[in-house]
Amino acid sequence: MTADLQPGKRPARKFQMASPAPVLWVFDFDGTVTLKDIGDAVCSRFAPPTWRDIDDAWLRHEISLPDAQRQMWALARCVREEAIAYCREVGQIRPGFVELLDRIAARNETVWLASGGFDFYIEALLGDLFHTGASTSVENSFSRFGRQYFNRTKFVGDRIEVEFPHHDISCEKCAVCKGNVCDLAKATGATVNFVGDGASDRCAIGRADRILAVRDSLLAKACEARGVSYTPFDRFDELP
Ligand SMILES: [Mg+2]
Ligand SMILES: [Zn+2]
Repeated sequence: MTADLQPGKRPARKFQMASPAPVLWVFDFDGTVTLKDIGDAVCSRFAPPTWRDIDDAWLRHEISLPDAQRQMWALARCVREEAIAYCREVGQIRPGFVELLDRIAARNETVWLASGGFDFYIEALLGDLFHTGASTSVENSFSRFGRQYFNRTKFVGDRIEVEFPHHDISCEKCAVCKGNVCDLAKATGATVNFVGDGASDRCAIGRADRILAVRDSLLAKACEARGVSYTPFDRFDELP
């Protein structure tokens, strides 16, 4: 019998139950945290209907999402205040979101936000959601998220210029690649839950440990087409 096979001589760690990997949730924003896709709603309201042709070209994989977004947003005509007021009109948050974040925090799990959408409406809607007395700053709104990835806009008069600062997590299709974000989340040693709805969330399939998809969404259909199991939901109170 070798020394390390004798009871009591083995390193103590071999007798310990391995502690479960921490859980890290990665949330998409448009159509997931919100009921509607806010970027699409703003384009529908402020751009001529031809923006849909550009969006369709992206859905057919003919152009990348950032190329589509550059072209779509170049068609929109509105000043920043107008755009934000409209986002507040249409930006209903999916029921149970804050309570889900509370449950996640109570379990000491982590939340990241990974959106292919834009700063002006994400900051406005999350700012409203987490408004607590005097603490309405953008920093406070994001204190619940370990990391946030989304794109930026610059309003110049009634024109909107879009910017894609996250080159490090881009893929050939996405400016904020949900698959690359899931890889970063996995690299922390965590079990990764990805929560999403859209075509741009497909990169997370096979990269997250678990996919939670809005029922009947494009992400749900993509999981079914690829034979990947997922958890469907309509309301966040359906999730643990
Ligand atoms: Mg989405
Ligand atoms: Zn991607």
